[in-house]
Amino acid sequence: MIEATVSAAPQPILRADYRGPSFFIDRVDLRFELGEDLSRVHATLSLRRADGVPDDAPLVLDGEALKLLHLALDGRTLGADDYALTATTLTIPGRGLAAAFELRSVVEIRPQDNTELSGLYRSSGNFCTQCEAEGFRRITYFLDRPDVMARYSVTLEAERARYPVLLANGNRVAAGELADGRHFARWDDPFPKPSYLFALVAGDLRCLPGEFTTRSGRAVRLEIWVEPENIDRCEHALRSLIKSMRWDEQAFGREYDLDIYMIVAVNDFNMGAMENKGLNIFNAKYVLARPDTATDDDYQAIEQVIAHEYFHNWSGNRVTCRDWFQLTLKEGLTVLRDRLFSRDMRSAAVARISEVLGLRTAQFAEDRGPMAHPIRPESYIEMNNFYTTTVYEKGAEVIGMLRLLLGPDGFRRGMDLYFDRHDGQAVTCDDFLAAMADASGRDLAQFSRWYSQVGTPIVRARGEHDPDARTFTLTLEQAPPHGRHDAALLHIPIAVGLLAPAADGARALPLQLADEPAPGATTRVLELRAANQRFTFVGVDAPPAASLLRGFSAPVELEVPRSDDELALLMASDPDPFSRWDAGQELGRRALLRLADDAAAGRPLALDPRFVAACARVLADPHLDGSLKALALTLPGERILGQHQEVVAVDELHTARQFAVRALAEALREPLQALYAATAPGPYSIEPAEVDRRRLRNLALGYLVALGEPQTVALAQAQFAAADNMSDAQEALACLIDHGGPARDAALAAFHGRWCGDPLVLDKWFALQAMSSHADTLARVLELATHPDFNLGNPNRARALLGTFGARNQFHFHSRCGRGYALLADKVIELDPHNASMAARLVAAFNPWRRFDAARQQAMRAQLERIAGQPGLSRAVHEIVARALAPV
Ligand SMILES: [Zn+2]
Repeated sequence: MIEATVSAAPQPILRADYRGPSFFIDRVDLRFELGEDLSRVHATLSLRRADGVPDDAPLVLDGEALKLLHLALDGRTLGADDYALTATTLTIPGRGLAAAFELRSVVEIRPQDNTELSGLYRSSGNFCTQCEAEGFRRITYFLDRPDVMARYSVTLEAERARYPVLLANGNRVAAGELADGRHFARWDDPFPKPSYLFALVAGDLRCLPGEFTTRSGRAVRLEIWVEPENIDRCEHALRSLIKSMRWDEQAFGREYDLDIYMIVAVNDFNMGAMENKGLNIFNAKYVLARPDTATDDDYQAIEQVIAHEYFHNWSGNRVTCRDWFQLTLKEGLTVLRDRLFSRDMRSAAVARISEVLGLRTAQFAEDRGPMAHPIRPESYIEMNNFYTTTVYEKGAEVIGMLRLLLGPDGFRRGMDLYFDRHDGQAVTCDDFLAAMADASGRDLAQFSRWYSQVGTPIVRARGEHDPDARTFTLTLEQAPPHGRHDAALLHIPIAVGLLAPAADGARALPLQLADEPAPGATTRVLELRAANQRFTFVGVDAPPAASLLRGFSAPVELEVPRSDDELALLMASDPDPFSRWDAGQELGRRALLRLADDAAAGRPLALDPRFVAACARVLADPHLDGSLKALALTLPGERILGQHQEVVAVDELHTARQFAVRALAEALREPLQALYAATAPGPYSIEPAEVDRRRLRNLALGYLVALGEPQTVALAQAQFAAADNMSDAQEALACLIDHGGPARDAALAAFHGRWCGDPLVLDKWFALQAMSSHADTLARVLELATHPDFNLGNPNRARALLGTFGARNQFHFHSRCGRGYALLADKVIELDPHNASMAARLVAAFNPWRRFDAARQQAMRAQLERIAGQPGLSRAVHEIVARALAPV
């Protein structure tokens, strides 16, 4: 009799368990025989035992989904008795191994069947790779960990007709013909790198070439590779690359190191883009742009992602991570670098506000859910689950705080020291902090707690004015995040300013603390290090309005008792554009939460006239640019509003926000109409002033169409029909979808008819419908999930429909009937056996389930349990679901 076996729950890997490798690999020689049914990988590894490792320590190589054909040690073929194979390892006993030796292997793999899109796979008939975090082990047996860095030489062999282009990392050193219509190319990468940065591409691709001369005068060839039909959509990507290369030289003194830099766009990609040394592989979404196919946001995202991957050449590739717990070392730092770049390329204020909006919407929610973790996680089951907004965005905020504390020059000295000290090494977050501390002379011991801290800290502030002493005392207090009590005291920079009410609004006061001889600047950074600290400003005649957390100087929730009048003053006059926007958001949030309460209690709804008046002032302000105005006049989203409730009131929040949009539109109808008429589009241009104008005009259109009147709907129809660019077309279409009826159906049909052959644009068609506020959205999403153009196996399409719906449509996804939940769970179960990492991303939509009412909690819990009960569930989905269901 055989006992029924229950597969053991996957065990977490702990940061505390890190051990250095027992062996290093100095050189790797790879030869790929690429074929239609199967491919062969010949690997020759030069290995050596690490110092201090005993002679009998076995060599354990990682390997997954590989068929081993041949294995030889120093030229001697090994038999089956000489090694042991499991589903994930190849072990050679230590006794037979010299201190240094050569291991040759031949394995067979099947890239055409690789639906996980990890390792070597096919996309649109081409071969490509994705190896971060642990995909290289699906290509050959290897020590697949980032602290093993080797020099690679790679030969690709394939049929010339199908795969005329053969690319790999480094410089191309040879190419030529082989028998039977096949050809080869050999690439050498002179820089040692971890296996996760390995890449190859083979396919029928076209190239947009460019050139960049580095500051030391070296010419670098630039190549953007795409499918032939997309060759007219690469210029923006090339321009963005050139800007990034120049900026990194100017801002950080970092120069590119190889003779060639290549970017390849592929259609099937789990992530955004990948920084493989010299050969970036990108989701096509972050490369391809033409005015009629890409929005202004797409253009900016492309510029930023290209910059991000380029900047990794230093922060990630030249200096890499010792282990995956250190992911934020390269990601938090590189996100900060791409943000600084973006702020230099366009309006810094608009960029900063967008960063904070993203952080508050997604990262703050993650901090309050079952996946809450420090920017340097302590454990994981599946590393792919930790490419999170916490590691990336909060990680960038932490390094941004460091920059604020050290000043731009001190930070730059720290960066220079970090790169000098660790070039060519795999290091840790502690090494980074040590370089910053050594270069600046600052003690960062307390600051380093940000790396282990879980959740969003709360900072409470209150101010007291003493008219006799003419002082203003600000008391700052740090409190643990919601639901946590174990938080250590952090080192938190709080940027503040004080505004004195004046006849024409407010005046910024030069700030002088009690122990200082003279007043200084109008903004200063206070360092909160204790549980409670008091800061007394002198020379303050009248009670000021305190502008706190300027520029969002720390990733905290700020609680400060302020009257609506004080907020209205800050919204109208704060010279810090972030704080000005933030005051408006808080004022709007208060008004909307009151409306939601009124809706819950069945009271009649009326939008606070003070808020309406404040919005009217913003709209009329001649000094604000269009993008800032559009941000200021966009009401807080339902997901952000829900974070400020004990139990998310899904329906009431929706009612309140819809009501407020219409009420604002009615109150501001005339200025909005005038604005819309006055900003009629000229010829399309991507210049910032034109982007600002389009943003503001489309904001006005959104409000006007929300009135639901035939003449305002006609504006959207006319804009949709006449648009020569995707920004205007998409915004008009979004308005029409929200409006519904025949206008919507006609626009959707026209859009589909024009773009059904264009995957990236068709993704927009799915996403816009999935995020609509219209009453029948859920029914339409259910229908779209069976649409012939829907393809669960393509990550972009799955994200467009299901990712958008689950993460960006609180009202309809959380529909009481539970059909939204069932749809998502069905698709997670369907996708998991094919692409576990995408399935894990989708299932995360259930993470906030405990924040909702009992009926919704029960419905979501039932779906989570149904998923958990699936036989053969992947580690990736298991980890997310198990954490979600774990008792709190
Ligand atoms: Zn990155």
